[in-house]
Amino acid sequence: MRILVVDDSITTRLILKSMLEEAGYSDIILASNAFEALDCLEVSDQPQRKCGFDLIFMDIVMDEMNGIEACRRIKNNEKTKDIPVIMITGRSDVEMLKQAFEAGAHDYLIKPVNKTELWARTSAALRLKREIDRRVRREQELLEVTELLEEANRKLQRLSSIDGLTEIANRRQFDHTLNNEWKIAIRHGSPFSIILIDIDFFKLYNDTLGHAAGDNSLKNVAKVLEAELKRSEDLVARYGGEEFGVVLPNTDLNGALVVAERLRLAVEQLKIPHPSSPISNHITISLGVCSMSPTKISSTKKLLEYADRALYRAKENGRNRVEHCVTD
Ligand code: GH3
Ligand code: MG
Ligand code: MG
Repeated sequence: MRILVVDDSITTRLILKSMLEEAGYSDIILASNAFEALDCLEVSDQPQRKCGFDLIFMDIVMDEMNGIEACRRIKNNEKTKDIPVIMITGRSDVEMLKQAFEAGAHDYLIKPVNKTELWARTSAALRLKREIDRRVRREQELLEVTELLEEANRKLQRLSSIDGLTEIANRRQFDHTLNNEWKIAIRHGSPFSIILIDIDFFKLYNDTLGHAAGDNSLKNVAKVLEAELKRSEDLVARYGGEEFGVVLPNTDLNGALVVAERLRLAVEQLKIPHPSSPISNHITISLGVCSMSPTKISSTKKLLEYADRALYRAKENGRNRVEHCVTD
């Protein structure tokens, strides 16, 4: 353990050094004034510890800067604040000691220093320093573990809301967003729309080109749907196998129909060949739109039901089209 002795009297410095060495402490640095001491503490940075010293003996009465001011600076410095400071005073001046303790001193010794007393105070102060170091290390470890846990949580949160194949939001996220936005819409009295989307003749696509090609096309369709949504509060999610759901907060029927038509066109323009589709040479989608002005007596269940009905109608009416449901 490393000890700094600050005293303007060379005799006191040497006496303290030899007494401490007698007790087995070998790493002792001497400073003859407060500035030298503060310099020592500044340059003693070590990567492991904030400051290399574990204990400071500080003379109270010194020229230019006294020990009390030096102690105050040590205690106000983040790097040195945990080092116990033992004041050394020639006078038993109570007022000075009071100031020293207010400045953060840990203990004091009266000159001439008694050896037994010095050893007892030294070992107690170093025990305290070891305890502080251990606590600081533990806090640091705890902080690191907390950061790791938070990062893992963020990752899990991301994973639990993302669909593994298409990497857009999954059904869980869709439900979550739908319910949240629905509540906000009730509070604000704003219109609300959803779109349910289903790829046309996708079973035939798989049967013709294989499941891997099917997966690939699902990814491409998901990507283009996501790219077509412009507002940050809009959400597209993979709702089921080859079905997608879109949440459009603060959007009325006209707005939702415009978005739906844009999505339909964007998928069509991807021109993913679908050799077995009875209605097109390419992959197409059918879309069901439902808009409502949410109130406490309406529900997302109804909204979904109507959107599903509209989607069914889009299929019935020839696919590759948008249909909508008007509700009260
Ligand atoms: P429709 O136009 O009436 O929607 O016809 P469809 O063939 O798309 O309808 P259906 O619901 O009968 O078939 C959906 C097909 O989507 C079944 C399955 O082969 C395919 N599918 C669902 N999920 C996945 C998936 O994750 N990957 C692949 N490759 N295909 C999927
Ligand atoms: Mg389907
Ligand atoms: Mg389908």
